[in-house]
Amino acid sequence: MTPTELWSADTDQQVTCLACGQTLDREEAREYDKYGDRWDRDGKTFEYLCKPCDRDRCHQPRDGLEATLVAADAGRTDRESFLRRYCELDAGDTESARRRS
Ligand SMILES: [Zn+2]
Repeated sequence: MTPTELWSADTDQQVTCLACGQTLDREEAREYDKYGDRWDRDGKTFEYLCKPCDRDRCHQPRDGLEATLVAADAGRTDRESFLRRYCELDAGDTESARRRS
């Protein structure tokens, strides 16, 4: 049994915001499923966002973002390779989105 499973029934569980690193109560956090399907929980590790980061996230254009992250091997490759692949995959798209916001 992993520590996460041991803590899962504990209402005092603390989680870490994946965006800013802040530690907060599980109940205060927003669950973030990078695969976009919160109902299929088998074998998944959920990540969490604090409310301010969740708000920021929702304000950003993110169509196709998760697909791009997965295609770029997010979390499965080293940072340098990931960033290079991400930039290749995302070329053009993000720039136009930034100019709009
Ligand atoms: Zn945060």
